[in-house]
Amino acid sequence: MDTNLPKSAHPRLVIIGCGFAGLRLAQALKHDPVQIVVIDRHNYHNFQPLLYQVATGALEADSIAYPIRKIFAGQKNFFFRLADVEQVNPDTKTVHTNIGDIGYDYLVIATGSLTNFFGIESVERNAMQIKSIPNALNLRSYIFQNFEKALLKDDPEQRQALLNIVVVGGGPTGVEISGSLAEMRRTVLPKDYPELDLSQMKIILVEAGPALLGPMSKQSQDDALGYLQKLGVEVRLNTGIKRFEDCRAYYSDTEFIPTENLIWAAGVNGAALPGLPEATVTRNKRINVNRWNEVEGLPGVFAIGDVANMVTEDMPKGLPMLAPVAQQQADHLAHNLRRLAKGQPPEPFNYLNKGVMAIVARNKAVVDLPKNVHFNGFFGWLTWLFVHLMTLVGFRNKVVAFIDWAFSYWNSDKALRLIIRPFNRRDMKDDKGKRAAEHQTATPQYNPTPPAIQTPAA
Ligand SMILES: Cc1cc2nc3c(=O)[nH]c(=O)nc-3n(C[C@H](O)[C@H](O)[C@H](O)COP(=O)(O)OP(=O)(O)OC[C@H]3O[C@@H](n4cnc5c(N)ncnc54)[C@H](O)[C@@H]3O)c2cc1C
Repeated sequence: MDTNLPKSAHPRLVIIGCGFAGLRLAQALKHDPVQIVVIDRHNYHNFQPLLYQVATGALEADSIAYPIRKIFAGQKNFFFRLADVEQVNPDTKTVHTNIGDIGYDYLVIATGSLTNFFGIESVERNAMQIKSIPNALNLRSYIFQNFEKALLKDDPEQRQALLNIVVVGGGPTGVEISGSLAEMRRTVLPKDYPELDLSQMKIILVEAGPALLGPMSKQSQDDALGYLQKLGVEVRLNTGIKRFEDCRAYYSDTEFIPTENLIWAAGVNGAALPGLPEATVTRNKRINVNRWNEVEGLPGVFAIGDVANMVTEDMPKGLPMLAPVAQQQADHLAHNLRRLAKGQPPEPFNYLNKGVMAIVARNKAVVDLPKNVHFNGFFGWLTWLFVHLMTLVGFRNKVVAFIDWAFSYWNSDKALRLIIRPFNRRDMKDDKGKRAAEHQTATPQYNPTPPAIQTPAA
């Protein structure tokens, strides 16, 4: 029990997840008399808003991730365990992980979200998602691998399916990745693939609702649509993908878009953990919390960030799953934990919306600020770059991202187009089976017994 964590005179606060919320909370409690134990299944903090830039070769994976132990080096009350939490047990005040059980006095669940495939099994099996660094690298490699395959095809239908890219979901991620791919088609691909007729390559953004960027202003929605259309992205509104198999993305029972590249950015569910009372978990797997982030009916257990479903007067469907919500809830919970320690009642959380933005391409972004202030174009783009650069964790990451962006702005190129995958003969074969998802989880296995060397028959 306790995975060799030292005994402490202070109460133990276990934080599950070191994303935007967990990281901020552990930092905010740096000088408090509490033993902080952060558990994450990765040993790095992942800056998800820039994942699409890794997927489209604009940024290195290393510049959007930062080692957790390095972030907290020197913080005396901080302990980290690399582990996957499988269950929480509020009765025994323990969390069950793959490395053993860990006891807590206070528990904070900050596990974020998972891709929502809406129960469409063929999409879950065959599409690419963009939720983690391996996903983003996989996406980049898979698309470039398909260009290599397209070069080898004589059959125009097969070549078309390899070149077509369908992005599902017209939220910021779908818009950003479509715009970035369109720029890549204009700037990078003609240099790398002069033998391919890139006028054949279609980028199709499919959105089930009537507009792109659902929660943003009408002006930003229209601007983003205009930008994408100018870049040659085909936007199909009020269209849902029903299944994806045999290189066909079906939007009705019989109608389909031929493609080998389907990027699923259509939504997320909360990443609630097993062990919580059923009534506390919503249909989309978020955890119901009160206004100070305490899980309903479980004193001392809190949820913050994407996984927390906090309903307010202005947001009856729950606060949005955004990084600023996660960070503000973390700051507020730190404040309330201090109040609880002093025997004072907690104070309710109020979300301060400082604005939302989405980038479409070079010099093209849309920004909505409070009080109906909107702007776009070059100034919007500069604002987006500045805000994201400043919020990246670590000085090195800021510098590397700045250099990468400056380099690609200056020469209209994206340097990063390596196909990083274990070589697999089947990848270049015409297996017609979709293999994108297969690679998302595939990790090379260490085999302690090498295969016996075959001696040729005499
Ligand atoms: C592609 C993409 C683009 C986005 N763009 C924007 C944007 O432009 N602006 C914006 O505000 N927001 C954006 N978001 C949303 C934003 O990233 C989230 O709101 C934010 O990450 C939420 O923070 P969090 O701490 O709740 O969860 P996360 O940052 O997701 O962190 C959760 C952590 O928990 C860990 N974890 C989960 N389950 C377990 C477990 N069982 N055991 C151990 N560890 C576990 C994970 O490894 C992860 O480190 C984007 C998200 C994505 C995916």
